[in-house]
Amino acid sequence: MPLNNDILDRISDAFFAVDSDWNITYFNTEAVRVLGREKKEVLNLNLWVAFPEAVNQEVYRQYHKAVREQKPVFFEMYWPPRSMWYNVRAFPSSNGLTVFFQDITVQKQLATKQEEHYKSLFHNNPDAVFSFDLDGNYISVNPAMEKLLGYNEQEFINMNWSPLVKEEEVEEVDYYFQKALKGETQHYETIARHRDGSTINVKVTNMPIIVCGKIVGVYGIARDVTKEMETEKLLVDSEKLMAVGQLAASIAHEIRNPLTSLKGFLQLMEQTEGQSNEEYLKILSDEVSRIELITGELLVLAKPQAHDFQMIDILIIIKDVVTLLYSQALMNGVEIHSDYEVLPKIKGIETQLKQALINVIKNAIEAMESGGNLYISVKNNGGAIVIVVKDEGVGIPKEILEKIGSPFYTTKEKGTGLGMMTTMKIIQTHEGKFEITSAPSDGTTVKITLPV
Ligand code: ADP
Ligand code: MG
Repeated sequence: MPLNNDILDRISDAFFAVDSDWNITYFNTEAVRVLGREKKEVLNLNLWVAFPEAVNQEVYRQYHKAVREQKPVFFEMYWPPRSMWYNVRAFPSSNGLTVFFQDITVQKQLATKQEEHYKSLFHNNPDAVFSFDLDGNYISVNPAMEKLLGYNEQEFINMNWSPLVKEEEVEEVDYYFQKALKGETQHYETIARHRDGSTINVKVTNMPIIVCGKIVGVYGIARDVTKEMETEKLLVDSEKLMAVGQLAASIAHEIRNPLTSLKGFLQLMEQTEGQSNEEYLKILSDEVSRIELITGELLVLAKPQAHDFQMIDILIIIKDVVTLLYSQALMNGVEIHSDYEVLPKIKGIETQLKQALINVIKNAIEAMESGGNLYISVKNNGGAIVIVVKDEGVGIPKEILEKIGSPFYTTKEKGTGLGMMTTMKIIQTHEGKFEITSAPSDGTTVKITLPV
């Protein structure tokens, strides 16, 4: 092939040609620059003699392949003698091989730099970072992940995520994983299993790995929040302890008054004999009843959480309570109007719900000293049972409304101020909702919602 030397010298690519015996027949100026060899040094020399470092390397195999198969080859190569990267295109012909190549060292370095940036983000990340294929098998994990769960990279690569999540959590995590696979990034908390059998609370992010517009897997980032959660629990516990302490103080206060008078009267009775004891006994028994009332209400609160939830019929409970309070209502001139719907049975603790309803209805009756109407309605609202108790009593001023439910807050001479607190606690145990609205002019409405 006759070559016009001038043109070939002026093309910006490096270029050289060899004949069918691998003798270098042409070497352009750019090739001189890129390969760092003089023309006269290499011309007419065998390629593999001129560049002995290339023998049996990838470039050697590629050129031989091109000649053998008479097909062009394209590849990138690193050339150690010059510490350079080349982009090579070699075209075979019957006379030999012509090779065009470009110095791509700068681009290559940039790309590697960028890759190393990402690698460093992955490798040195204090959070566990990992990736999955579409089936949830690990493709890569960083050192933080190895530390988090106690397996090394090699062990991870042969594993699926599911055995590493606490059994009860697998279904939920799978839901998030599938959503991430559909392209939606997910944030959630779950419980992972360490190799040593311990469990770890983790906050996880799952996001899709998108390559060329297609989701090919899922990335995960996880952080150990076990310590955080323990601290949080301690905080909540200490708050609870404080509340218990306050409660204990007020209980002591509440019970000390009747106890003081009990003691006084007992001393009095020791000194006086006979006649007046009957009068004292009445007072004593009243005070004892009061202590009984207070401790009784408190017991409902203090009982351990592991109650027996059973399937119960709210209507039966309400009817029982109304019967129980009927005579008191009658005495106060209160007329009870009830409006009941057929209800599904719900899970609940019968004695507790009874207590809660007694407290509410009793308050309503007590609010109407000179009589009035008491409306009790029970509705089935699809997912919930709604109980509304509405009275026409004195009502509650706005500024007092928010105190309702604080222990020992009462406006009644003989009140305990424990009824509403107990009721709220019971409704809370039943995962229900307690709402109280009131206006001094038109009475009070209590709405209790219980989930079905
Ligand atoms: P107690 O009934 O022993 O006073 P509760 O905790 O049951 O204690 O109620 C606290 C306070 O809330 C009552 O003293 C009363 O002032 C107010 N209250 C509760 N229910 C009603 C109501 N239906 N109408 C008016 N005030 C009410
Ligand atoms: Mg009450």
